[in-house]
Amino acid sequence: MKGSKFFGIHLSTAKTVDECGKITLKNGVENMNATKPQGQFCQSCAMPMQKPEDFGTDAGGSKSAEYCRYCFQNGRFTEPDMTVEQMIEKCAAIMKQMNIPAEQIKQTEKFIPMLKRWKAK
Ligand SMILES: [Zn+2]
Repeated sequence: MKGSKFFGIHLSTAKTVDECGKITLKNGVENMNATKPQGQFCQSCAMPMQKPEDFGTDAGGSKSAEYCRYCFQNGRFTEPDMTVEQMIEKCAAIMKQMNIPAEQIKQTEKFIPMLKRWKAK
């Protein structure tokens, strides 16, 4: 993806942190199963972002409304060369460690390629 275009989209769709902070999820994993996910998810790794500290940071240091702190810091992806396949693998490994059922891990594997970071390619 091209940097300038990316930031254009990013800024135009960014929500304020206050707005994001008001959104609370009872169960982020449960929401992933819905066809239209509710609430805020990282648009790179699908992690539900519920607390202000879950959000990544834009170049100016303000909170990113779209990416989590593991994926996006200071306006850059922490692993810019990562492919969607690698992201799926990484997330599946983390979810296994968290004892998330295999069925839900499969749902997430389908969900990740639909996220903004990967769709933009
Ligand atoms: Zn993320």
